[in-house]
Amino acid sequence: MDTKLQSFLDKVKDTASRTGRSVGRAADAAGKKASEMAAATRLNLRIFDLNTECDVLFRDIGRMVYELHRGDEVTSEDMDAKLEEVDAKKEQLAELRDQLASMRSVSICPNCGRTCSREDSFCPGCGTEL
Ligand SMILES: [Zn+2]
Repeated sequence: MDTKLQSFLDKVKDTASRTGRSVGRAADAAGKKASEMAAATRLNLRIFDLNTECDVLFRDIGRMVYELHRGDEVTSEDMDAKLEEVDAKKEQLAELRDQLASMRSVSICPNCGRTCSREDSFCPGCGTEL
């Protein structure tokens, strides 16, 4: 084969394999972003559920207060149990909100693992597209 043609073909092959690699990386990053989004959605759903559960507890507590007002039997244990449940759920909520906030403000470089800002288009450490 003509050496010029051969070197041209080699160059084309080399470019093709490099393009293939970068497409692979982009797909990895897209997949990662999608799974991060799915995780954020799960967190949001969990937060929504916990808020709903708190609302139910608040309603129960309100009814107990009213029953007390009516002179019905309400033990302080019942009331304390409900209040403690709310406390526990509020703690979980704070934790989930923290997780959500940290997921939103940072992203991890798929190449070097550096923690980057969500706003960065490229990793400040290695220049990989984020
Ligand atoms: Zn990097």
